[in-house]
Amino acid sequence: MVNTYTTLTAIQQDLREGRTTVKELVNGYLANIARYQHLNAFNEVFTEEAIQRAADVDARISSGEAGRLAGLVISIKDNICYKGHQVTASSHILENFTSVFSSTVVERLLEQDAIIIGRCNCDEFAMGGANENSYFGPVKNMADETRAPGGSSGGSAVSVQAGMAHASIGTDTGGSIRQPASFCGVVGLKPTYGRVSRHGIIAYASSFDQAGPITRSVEDAALLLEVIAGADGYDSTQSRRPVPSYSIELAPVTGKKKIAYLREVMDSEGLDPQVKACLVDHIEALKADGHTVEPVSFEYLDHVVPTYYILTMAEASSNLARYDGVHYGYRSPNATDLTTTYKRSRSEGFGTEVKRRIMLGTFVLSAGYYDAYYAKAQKVRRLIQQRTNAILEEYDMILTPTAPEPAFKIGRQDIDPIVTYLEDIFTVQASLAGVPAISVPVQNNSAGLPLGLQLCTKAFNEVELLNFATYLLGLRKS
Ligand code: GLN
Repeated sequence: MVNTYTTLTAIQQDLREGRTTVKELVNGYLANIARYQHLNAFNEVFTEEAIQRAADVDARISSGEAGRLAGLVISIKDNICYKGHQVTASSHILENFTSVFSSTVVERLLEQDAIIIGRCNCDEFAMGGANENSYFGPVKNMADETRAPGGSSGGSAVSVQAGMAHASIGTDTGGSIRQPASFCGVVGLKPTYGRVSRHGIIAYASSFDQAGPITRSVEDAALLLEVIAGADGYDSTQSRRPVPSYSIELAPVTGKKKIAYLREVMDSEGLDPQVKACLVDHIEALKADGHTVEPVSFEYLDHVVPTYYILTMAEASSNLARYDGVHYGYRSPNATDLTTTYKRSRSEGFGTEVKRRIMLGTFVLSAGYYDAYYAKAQKVRRLIQQRTNAILEEYDMILTPTAPEPAFKIGRQDIDPIVTYLEDIFTVQASLAGVPAISVPVQNNSAGLPLGLQLCTKAFNEVELLNFATYLLGLRKS
């Protein structure tokens, strides 16, 4: 039964009217976790604890003291710290590491009585777009088990897709919430940079990283954002702007919007024909409903992926310097002195993709190449930001596919990592610009694979984004 709920509101209504209990819900998710264990979505399930907390939340519901998320059973990506629980970032180097404090995101979920059912598999240190870079093995997409769920929050997306949790919290540096959401037929929201605290989230590229919800409805994404957003004093890049009541402000779209789509996206070589048709059909449907939908040019499309990778690898090389075999995490048993402790612990502890990025990041920051790569990429980032903001001054939103193709076969990236990097072409623009973006599951292709469309808007304009996403989701179904 748990598998059929689309919104937390529906769950809470059933709880209030006595049709189910939190205990029953937790058991249902646990049954699905057992049934779909082979999808490899979880690195650890907090079984005993979830059952225990369910009894507590049931009691609080009875006494009328329950928080806003009572009845929500949620999973978290395994790069989000939860005090007293292991957190690995799906890396050998952090295997068996236990969090000594909770991230702000986790604290806020728990304060409102959410139950965290487990930590989800992901790409190692969130580096990847297929969930194939995990030390704990790849995750399978429930829509077709030979295909990837996307990444890096692949386990999170599958946990929601397969009803192993009602929702999940992922992280998105360049698309890691949106692309797996698109591949798995669920909703994924990357908030404005600085909206959600990064405190207690394992850093990949700090000027890009944001946590956000993966859900079965836009309504739940709004509610979760409302709970987790807002300054906490622990993240200096956090915005102090007040957090709107996203869930309450959700309202039917009234008035006509101005939507841009990018000419270069339409013409891009790697765009799957059915993905393109899906975009075109939605553009036509929006026009038919009276909205203005126009092509604009975004001349930097070919530069977004290289710019993103130069900057994120540079930031990663610095962030990952802390895993040195001394402070915490894996230490090589073959180390004999300080240098071999560093060298061997890092060589044995990190996976291939992570090492590739640390080395490339170190290279672009090195004295002789800094200006040619890192400084140059910073300048290009600024141009991308300015152009994106200029488009968003003139238009309410930009509409693109979330990914150039539907979920691809597991194993493909072994051939060439560049192929996987290029998958990020539509998601990294919002990440470079720091603006919010959402992926909504609009239809399936002829093979039954989910296709997502992405909307992005001005910084801190999540209310309008969520409203329009709800409308877009219902547009061709109504
Ligand atoms: N696929 C992108 C990368 O590998 C995005 C990852 C992310 O958003 N964490 O960097």
